[in-house]
Amino acid sequence: MKIFTDTDCGKSLSLPLSVTHFIYALFSFLFSFSFFSFSLILLFLLPAKAAQTESKPTREPESYYTQADSLETEICAAIKKEFDSLKKTKYSKKYIFAAVANIKDGRVIFTNSRDFYIKNKISPGSIIKIFNYALILKHIKNAEYNIFYCRDNLYAGGRRYNCSQKGGHGELSLEAAFYRSCNLYFKNYMPKIKRREFTAALKKCGFINETAEKKILFAPQNEYLQSVIGDKNIEVTPEKLIELIRFFAAGDSTLKPLPIGYGEVFNTAAREKINAAMRGVAINGTAAAALNGFDCAAKTGSASVSTRIENNKKIILTTAVFLGYTPYANPKYAVITFCETGAGGTDGAFIAVRLLSAADH
Ligand SMILES: [Zn+2]
Repeated sequence: MKIFTDTDCGKSLSLPLSVTHFIYALFSFLFSFSFFSFSLILLFLLPAKAAQTESKPTREPESYYTQADSLETEICAAIKKEFDSLKKTKYSKKYIFAAVANIKDGRVIFTNSRDFYIKNKISPGSIIKIFNYALILKHIKNAEYNIFYCRDNLYAGGRRYNCSQKGGHGELSLEAAFYRSCNLYFKNYMPKIKRREFTAALKKCGFINETAEKKILFAPQNEYLQSVIGDKNIEVTPEKLIELIRFFAAGDSTLKPLPIGYGEVFNTAAREKINAAMRGVAINGTAAAALNGFDCAAKTGSASVSTRIENNKKIILTTAVFLGYTPYANPKYAVITFCETGAGGTDGAFIAVRLLSAADH
C-alpha cells in the first residue's frame, strides 16, 4: 500500500480502490456527524434561548413575590386588593408605596413597586433615632434615667429649635423621647457624642457611604442636627430599612443574608430596649392612634421635603415612613410604607395597618 509523504504533494494521486472507499466513507461519516450535531444544537438551544427571552417581563409587574408558598400568595392577593382600594380613595392624589417581607429570609411577599423597594433612596426621618438610641445608651451616663424637659424650644449652637409637638412634650425619658419622637431630646443629647460615633454606626450597617460620612462630619452644626433626626445627608432604600427591622424582629436567629455590622452597633441589651421602645410607638406613641391596638412594633418617620409660609405660619411638608414588624411576639412579617406627602405616625401607620389587617383576614 502506498504511503503518503510530503513529497507526494502536487503529484497526481493514484490510490488503491479500498483506500479511496475508506477515505470517502470517513468523510461522509464526519460530514453526517457534524450535520447531525448542528441540528441537535439548533433543536435544543434555540428554543431555550427563545424561552429565556419570553420569560423576561417587558414591564415591571404591579406586585411580586418569589418562591411564595400558597399562604403567602393568598396574603399577597389580599394586600394588593387593599392597596389598590387605598389608591382609589384617600391617597388618589399622592404617591404611596408599601412592602411586606418575610422576617426570616427577607423574601418580599408584597410590594407595589419592586423598583422603588430596591433602588429608591428615601430620607428615613425619625427612624434614624434607632441608631441614636443605641449611641445614647452607650455614651451618655445614666441615659435611661435622665429626664429631659421638652419645652418646644431648644437653644443649640446659637440657634433656636422647635419640636414636632406644639407646646412641647414635657418630661421625657429616653424611651418616651423615642416613642413620642421628640426631636429636641435627640438634638440635645446627640451633640454630646462624637460625630464619628454616629457616622461609624451608620457606616457599619451600610446606611451611609464615605461621601455622606464626610458631609455629616464636616456639616455646620445646624445641618448636623438635621442629620441626627434623619432629615439630611442620610438616604436609604426601603429594602435597607426592611433589613434593619428584620434584625430587630428576628434577634439572634438565622437571618439570611446576615447583615454585617448590626450586631456590633446594637448589642443584645440595646436591641431589647429598642424593641420595647418600638412597642411603645404602637401602644403609647406616634402611631398609637392610627394603629388602634394592632399587634406590632414600629418606628415612624417624617422627613421634610418643602417649606412654605401660609398666613404667616410656617408649613413644613413631609414624606411619611412607617417601619415595623408584626406580631410583636414571634414576628412573622416586616412592613414598610411610604407616602408623599404625609406624616409617618398618621398616614404611614394608617396604610400599614390597613394592609396588614387585610392580610390577617
Ligand atoms: Zn419634644
